[in-house]
Amino acid sequence: MSVKGETPRATEETIDAVLRPQKWEEYIGQERVKKNLKVIIEAAKKRKENPDHLLFYGSPGLGKTTLAYLIAKELKTNIRITAGPMIEKPGDLAALLTNLSEGDILFIDEIHRLSKTCEELIYPAMEDFKLHLMAGRGVMARTIELKLPKFTLIGATTRIALLSSPLRSRFGATFQLNFYTKEDIKKIIGRSAKILGVEITEKAVEFISERCRFTPRVANRLLKRLRDFAQIEGNGIIDKQIAILGFEAMGIDKLGLEEADRKILRAIIQKFNGGPVGIQALAATVGEEIDTILEIYEPYLLQLGLLKRTQRGRIATDLAYTHLGISSKNSQMSF
Ligand code: ADP
Repeated sequence: MSVKGETPRATEETIDAVLRPQKWEEYIGQERVKKNLKVIIEAAKKRKENPDHLLFYGSPGLGKTTLAYLIAKELKTNIRITAGPMIEKPGDLAALLTNLSEGDILFIDEIHRLSKTCEELIYPAMEDFKLHLMAGRGVMARTIELKLPKFTLIGATTRIALLSSPLRSRFGATFQLNFYTKEDIKKIIGRSAKILGVEITEKAVEFISERCRFTPRVANRLLKRLRDFAQIEGNGIIDKQIAILGFEAMGIDKLGLEEADRKILRAIIQKFNGGPVGIQALAATVGEEIDTILEIYEPYLLQLGLLKRTQRGRIATDLAYTHLGISSKNSQMSF
């Protein structure tokens, strides 16, 4: 349910902001990443230098932006947040970089979507804190070199494979964020429920933790939806009964799959006889963007072992057949 005038995306951003961990202790899980980052930050502080440029990759909602905020807080520095698609022209990037102050953090989300020209401009900015701009046209064209304040770039991407190797190699450290463990997700749900001021039973926490794609943003979104169900259908408390009711209404099954996930699996099984099928054909069949399948649905299906990626395309595993209740590889159920 979105507030009047707000898009679902805006609502999600508001929940993100309200529930975003403000201290390291509140950032649950991803222990190896946190440990390494703390070393990088402490060392930089001791040397009174900026930390290296950092790159985070992993599925949406796993905590990349939150880490960038925490690093800025720890360094007591400003952070500027932007995203690859928002930096359209070299002038956009130049404006961003020249407006930074010494020690600032520049966070570029979806950095794989930075245009080629902007990417080339960012190399010397990352390496030598210099900006090479073209002035004039034709024979009068010349390059102007601008000195930039020393900043730290934090890049985030859901598609590390799309990052060119020259860009990747300019980051001092790269961290992969993994799906969370069930125990960590339980802690996140407990913390978020407290902040939202909603009572939740232990059994409900357990139930939700198995159905939220092991992703904090999804856990928070579902918690907020269930709070509505508890208010309308119950006595305001989220218990297992409310959770069952809510998940059924939202079409989320016991593995946390939504209708779109099941549609993808059913398409592979029923239209392509279990696969292998290429991503383009699959996307066209289910009516989704290729990027949406690659970034949102596929990582979780792979993680659960319902889908396999081979050189020749995607294959639905036996587990997928069992989960959907389809027995034979040649069955043609209604689609
Ligand atoms: P990403 O940038 O990877 O898409 P975000 O950093 O925006 O993800 O995280 C989405 C939301 O999930 C945050 O607002 C926060 O509430 C929650 N979250 C993410 N990681 C954690 C964590 N480790 N502990 C607690 N909450 C988290």
